[in-house]
Amino acid sequence: MKPRILYTKPSITEREVVYATDAAQNGWGERCYEYINRFEQQFATHLGVAHAIATSSCTGALHMGMAALGIGPGDEVIMADTNWIASAAPIVHLGAKPVFVDIRPDSWCIDPAAAEAAITPRTKAILAVHIYGNLCDMDALLDLGRRHGIPVIEDAAEAIGSQHRGRRAGSMGVFGSFSFHGTKTLTTGEGGMFVTQDPALYERVLTLSNHGRARGQTKQFWPDVVGYKYKMSNLQAAIGCAQVERIDALIARKREIFQAYRQELRGLPGVHLNPEPPGTVNGAWMPTVVFDAETGVTREALQQAFAAENVDARVFFHPLSSLPMFDDCPQNRLAWSIPGRAINLPSYHDMTAPEIERVAAVVRQLATRAS
Ligand SMILES: *Cc1c(COP(=O)(O)O)cnc(C)c1O
Repeated sequence: MKPRILYTKPSITEREVVYATDAAQNGWGERCYEYINRFEQQFATHLGVAHAIATSSCTGALHMGMAALGIGPGDEVIMADTNWIASAAPIVHLGAKPVFVDIRPDSWCIDPAAAEAAITPRTKAILAVHIYGNLCDMDALLDLGRRHGIPVIEDAAEAIGSQHRGRRAGSMGVFGSFSFHGTKTLTTGEGGMFVTQDPALYERVLTLSNHGRARGQTKQFWPDVVGYKYKMSNLQAAIGCAQVERIDALIARKREIFQAYRQELRGLPGVHLNPEPPGTVNGAWMPTVVFDAETGVTREALQQAFAAENVDARVFFHPLSSLPMFDDCPQNRLAWSIPGRAINLPSYHDMTAPEIERVAAVVRQLATRAS
């Protein structure tokens, strides 16, 4: 058996180790928020936003942000059927309903026309998730939001490094959320970030994030509302500080691996990699190949071929509406069809050129056999 090629793995250098060690030794008492404050500031600066709140997960950031927007029982939030459950779960937790619409063939992200058609008087938000680093059509979505008076939320967990005409993913909506789970471009083990340009929304989420204790409240142990507990620890934030100081290099390496795959798979008939339309940058969190239906190449064939090569490739997200807790929406044709002929390719920071070549060879072999 050839050596295993992992799917993702964080890049941890001496810097992360030094900061984490310092936090463990000294980051207590008076200094218990130092790395957290620094991480929030550095991340906000990277993104070009005014406010950031470090959280224990992206799911928590979404949950608090949606709660602060007043999303609750009876409300609807429109999102793409192609997604990870984490983006939909907070909507359900708030008693609202995720409304799943189809994706665009070019971006695998929410189709703005389908989103517009799904708007009802109960629609409280549109959730734009930049899947695998591919950007949603933010111009169309923001325009839609303005015309209907509906806020557009960005889940940018997969889109660190992605840019739309110079604006970073996560900085364009009413608020943005990020994940620092171990599989993401920037990691703190587990963790996330809430970001916004809106000072009032920031204050509301800040209060919610601290068990409902408002910043100006002088009484001790005095929550003003029932809040949440989704805080990041100073230890995790120490690793986050090291990672955010290296963020350009982390993104550059993701993009390098993506370019290498593009090069290796260039010209293969019926094979598509993540798009990067003019005026955008793809942060390339997850290089993914989608085969045209005509090739006859299936997810199962891809999984089998990668398993035989000892490569840890993962399946494309199942449509959320196909999961047991939601009603099927097979009318979301692309969301239901693409996963059956697609696969995520490994792309961890320290991946070597021969490893990239080994992965690409599997795709090439299937593509040429099919044509
Ligand atoms: C990873 C991911 C999440 C979940 O992040 P957690 O930090 O695990 O809560 C949410 N949304 C998207 C798009 C993700 O990729």
